Amino acid sequence: MLTDGSIAVQSASEAPFYRAVGDEAEVFRAAAGGGLPVLLKGPTGCGKTRFVEAMAHELGRGLITVAGHEDMTSADLVGRFLLKGGETVWVDGPLTRAVREGAICYLDEVVEARQDTVVVIHPLADHRRELALDRLGTTLSAAPGFQLVISYNPGYQSVLKNIKESTRQRFVAIELDFPPAEIEEQVVAHEAGIDAGTAGTLVRLGNAIRNLDGSPLREVSSTRMLILAGCLVAQGLSLRGAVQSAVVQTLSDDPDVVRALGELADAVL
Ligand code: ADP
Repeated sequence: MLTDGSIAVQSASEAPFYRAVGDEAEVFRAAAGGGLPVLLKGPTGCGKTRFVEAMAHELGRGLITVAGHEDMTSADLVGRFLLKGGETVWVDGPLTRAVREGAICYLDEVVEARQDTVVVIHPLADHRRELALDRLGTTLSAAPGFQLVISYNPGYQSVLKNIKESTRQRFVAIELDFPPAEIEEQVVAHEAGIDAGTAGTLVRLGNAIRNLDGSPLREVSSTRMLILAGCLVAQGLSLRGAVQSAVVQTLSDDPDVVRALGELADAVL
């Protein structure tokens, strides 16, 4: 995968490892077949990006991923004129490239972006499948294979804030969550390169944190965090040390919360 700032481009290579949890792959295939846009809902670090990577590979489509952020402008998606060697040249943005190439464009956490940015995706999400390049005075029709995929975390963002209801209703919604324990164990063991027993312990801790009553945490322990802890174990760190660095300290800066999470970890490990 090539990475250019907040944009990543995946080309054909080995199949990304993805363990399906429900019927998400079937739904995605059907949406892709109809050229329909997909809305992926789920907490941070639960496998949304990996899922899209796996689907793009299976479908033999290019994948252009854009990480959304508050300061993202429509020019960051569509493109802009840049000065090159004294000349002004138009440079396509990632969305325009995907539209021209018939690739999947994955807008990760797009709702972080402002309304005037998100507005460019509306005509791409409906039957028009068009992208207006105002600066060039043209409108592009999306090449076959183009598919818009956007993700958001319903836990702390309101997609309704930035995406018109009429547009939202055109998306096929797929909900992902942290995988059930036996699948998450396999994922953590595979990704971190650790044994099933250690992966199982990490997943038990992850679930204990997720199930805390009245939790003050903004995010819970994600699959990604458990994998990171596993990677530290694979490098020779003790399980306790790995959990402290990759999970407990990452989840909170509040000394009382850190202490409570540490005690919970001690009880599970
Ligand atoms: P998100 O995009 O939801 O924030 P990611 O796709 O980056 O999360 O997932 C974090 C990591 O968790 C991935 O790099 C991958 O290693 C792992 N992962 C999560 N769920 C799965 C799954 N079902 N199959 C394989 N790997 C998974």
